[in-house]
Amino acid sequence: MPTVLWFRRDLRLSDHPALVAAVDEARAHGTEVVPLYVLDDHLWDVAGAPRLAYLAAALAALDASLDGRLVVRRGRPEQVVPAVAQEAGAGSVHVTAATEPYGRRRDERVERALASTGVALVRTGSPYAVAPGRLSTGGGEEFKVFTPFRRAWLAHGWHSPAPRPRSVPWAVLPSDGVPAAVPTDVELPTAGEAAARRRWHHFLEHDLPGYAERRNRPDEDVTSVMSIPLKWGELHPRTLLADLAAVRPGPGGPGQADVDSYRSELAWREFHADVMWHRPAAREESLREVLPADAWADGPEADRLFEAWTAGRTGYPVVDAGMRQLLALGWMHNRVRMITASFLVKDLHIRWQRGAAHFMARLVDGDVPQNQLNWQWVAGTGRDAAPYFRVFNPVLQGEKFDPDGDYVRRWVPELRDVPGAAVHKPWELGLTAPPDYPERIVDHARERERALADLQRARDWG
Ligand code: FAD
Repeated sequence: MPTVLWFRRDLRLSDHPALVAAVDEARAHGTEVVPLYVLDDHLWDVAGAPRLAYLAAALAALDASLDGRLVVRRGRPEQVVPAVAQEAGAGSVHVTAATEPYGRRRDERVERALASTGVALVRTGSPYAVAPGRLSTGGGEEFKVFTPFRRAWLAHGWHSPAPRPRSVPWAVLPSDGVPAAVPTDVELPTAGEAAARRRWHHFLEHDLPGYAERRNRPDEDVTSVMSIPLKWGELHPRTLLADLAAVRPGPGGPGQADVDSYRSELAWREFHADVMWHRPAAREESLREVLPADAWADGPEADRLFEAWTAGRTGYPVVDAGMRQLLALGWMHNRVRMITASFLVKDLHIRWQRGAAHFMARLVDGDVPQNQLNWQWVAGTGRDAAPYFRVFNPVLQGEKFDPDGDYVRRWVPELRDVPGAAVHKPWELGLTAPPDYPERIVDHARERERALADLQRARDWG
């Protein structure tokens, strides 16, 4: 009997344990593998144009690597997947396990629908080096703190990358075709496994050296931008971890600190996936409330501030640069994600969920566990989060991490002619201040006081 390989967030052929499992089963029976992708109506409705545009390009790349045999069908997975299995006469459908809330619920529905026709849903591997939920503390509990999680994660280890099957007996089935390119105003990186691998190797050679020191500098463009291929599974983190393990630190090349630092960032990704596994409600709800309910801004004034924030017109240059980078690239540097998120929550007093929704609509790497839990980290409501009283000062953050102002000038053309770090305080330029750059929409010092007073109220009541 043939098998079906249902691709989801694993749009690659290398280091793909579910593909290996599907191929092994098909070979054992002398049959073929149906490569399926379902354009899930739900995802098509909720994902923003930048993410859909990237997905369409990633599917086109996957289809090309399958010599045009990717079977694309549109609809509800619990209807489409059993229908394709029946059409192919398949006895099993192989997947990489979904671990985030929507994917888990969807797979349960699909599994039930398949079971009613005698077809098995076979889960092999996950989008993580260590599957979420696998690790627990000495007391058998879920991890609540990152550092012990990372220690346990490193001690647990992971498999070597799965070898790419040499020749796969792909089946040929009618397809609705890869979706046409989705129009977007975002400048996207080239999609597909091969392009992602090239960018990764470029990073290893050129930017891993010095990564530990420079990763916080948005002006330097030295981070790997692997969040996008990791989101879509064009590369698996195990592949990255294996390459990192093969690095020989030494003079002129990456140091051990660079390798450790990169591995640690990947561990944050795994930590958030683990937290989301145990706490799916964290997708919408704060893991703990830190402020009284009346602390949050709502209504037309909050809407006006929110719109200024999304448009990159707050009058705080590093915040505006980040928000405009997001609009232009569908990606933002991590440090600036933290600064802009902190500004929304602690300077504008707008709930993290609203900012997270905007990020999800714009980010090409937009990913529920990473986005929601990083927002919760900034907002002080998450696991092992930054304490709420730590309020980022957007001027000091700009001066520290964009010391010459290059990042701001790149994204805020109104400030292009302001030299050096002066760009972080345009209000001090007096008559030479660029007239078309907005005034500050709030006073940071005052809003910080308000945020801290709100926190104190919560403590007094608490
Ligand atoms: P690099 O510095 O090259 O890091 C390597 C990899 O480590 C990244 O690709 C990523 O997979 C992982 N990583 C790095 N930082 C983090 C982190 N803080 N949390 C989890 N994993 C991390 N990341 C997403 O993938 N999707 C999101 O939707 C997302 N939303 C975010 C929202 C906010 C408010 C914040 C503060 C962070 C968010 N992040 C998100 C995490 C982080 O900003 C991005 O992963 C990172 O900027 C991607 O750039 P990079 O690949 O060049 O990072």
